[in-house]
Amino acid sequence: MTQIKQTLAELVKIDSVSSRSNAEIIDYLERRCRAINLITRRFPYKDELGIEKINLIALNADVSEVEIALVGHSDTVPYDPNWTEATNLTERDGKLYGRGSCDTKGFIAAALTAVETIDVSKLKKPLALIFTADEEIGLRGAKRLADEKRLKVRYSIVGEPTSLKPIRAGKGYSLAEVIVKGREAHSAYPALGASAVFRAARLINRLEEIAAQLQEDQHNDFDPPYTTLNIGLIHGGSAKNVLAGECRFTLEWRPIPTQSSGYLLNLFRSAIQEEKQNDPGFECEVDANRADSGFETPPESPLIKLMERLTGNESGTVAFGTEAAQMTLLGSEAVVIGPGDIREAHRTGEFVPVDELERCADILRESILELCYH
Ligand SMILES: [Zn+2]
Repeated sequence: MTQIKQTLAELVKIDSVSSRSNAEIIDYLERRCRAINLITRRFPYKDELGIEKINLIALNADVSEVEIALVGHSDTVPYDPNWTEATNLTERDGKLYGRGSCDTKGFIAAALTAVETIDVSKLKKPLALIFTADEEIGLRGAKRLADEKRLKVRYSIVGEPTSLKPIRAGKGYSLAEVIVKGREAHSAYPALGASAVFRAARLINRLEEIAAQLQEDQHNDFDPPYTTLNIGLIHGGSAKNVLAGECRFTLEWRPIPTQSSGYLLNLFRSAIQEEKQNDPGFECEVDANRADSGFETPPESPLIKLMERLTGNESGTVAFGTEAAQMTLLGSEAVVIGPGDIREAHRTGEFVPVDELERCADILRESILELCYH
C-alpha cells in the first residue's frame, strides 16, 4: 500500500462521526504533524452535549499569520452499521471505499502527504494545516476559529470533494423557524376560532411569491443563478376536527454571496405585516437561527489562477455551504477543492478514486511550493 493510501486507511479506521468526540483523530493528526516538526495548537471546546471537540492548527513557524492554510474537517456524517467497509478502507477498481474517504479524509490524507514530502524548514513563508470539528453539523468548529480569530490567513485551500475542480464561490445558508398562531375551536364552528394552518398556508403562498421575486437578483456564476428558498418541514394542528392552534414550518434559503441573509427576511417580514393588516388576529414568530455567509474569491485572484493552472480545470461555484466562508472571515482568499465527487459523499458506499487522491497531494504540494517557497 502506498503511503497516502495507508494514511487514508488510518484516518478512516478512526470513527469520527460528528456525534462523538474527535479527540482520537485529532491526536493522530497532531502526532503526524509533530513528526515533521510542525508546531501544534489545540483549541478544545465542549459541544452542547458536553462532548469534547477540538480544532487543531499546525504551523511550520510560531506565528499568528500565515501565507497558506490547508483546511480539512475531521468529522464525518454517520454510517449504516451494516456497512462493513465504513471504517475499513477497501480498494476495488481504483476506488477506495469507506466513510469519509471522499468527505473529507481523502483531502486530509493528501494534505498530510503533501506537507510530509516538503522540507518545511526551508519554506520562506509560513504555512498552516487546520483540522476542524463539527463541520457536518453546521460548520461549528470553523465558526469558532473564525469568531476567536485564531489565525490570520492570506490564502486558504478548503477540502471538500469537488472532483479536483477549484471552487471559488459558494452560496450562504440560512434557516428560520416560523411559528404561526391560531385559536383552537370545534371545526363545526370555524367562526369561533382561527386556523393556524390556513394562516400558515397564506404565508407560504407569500413565500412562493418571494421565491419568484428573488430570481430577479441574478449572480450568473451560480446554478441556479439566484437565491433559492425551501420549506422542508411543516407541522400543525392536533386533530382532524379541531381548528389548528399552531402551525410551524422551517424556512431554508441559500443566498447568493452578493445578497445578505437579511434581504429575504425583510421581504418576509413585510409580507407578515401585510397579512396582519388583512387579519388583525394574525400572529407569527420568526426565529432566524442560522445565517451562514457565502463566499466569493475573484476569478483573477492569484490563488484561483494557481489552482486552475495546477488542476487544468476551470474554477466554478457551488450552491452549498463550506468552511471557506469562515476562512474569509480570517482575512483569506479561499478556494474549495478535493478529490472525490460530492454526489458520492454522505452515502453508504462513499469512495474516492485513487488517481484523484494522488493528484490532489501533488496539487497541494505544488501550491505550497509556489506560495511559500519563493
Ligand atoms: Zn465535507
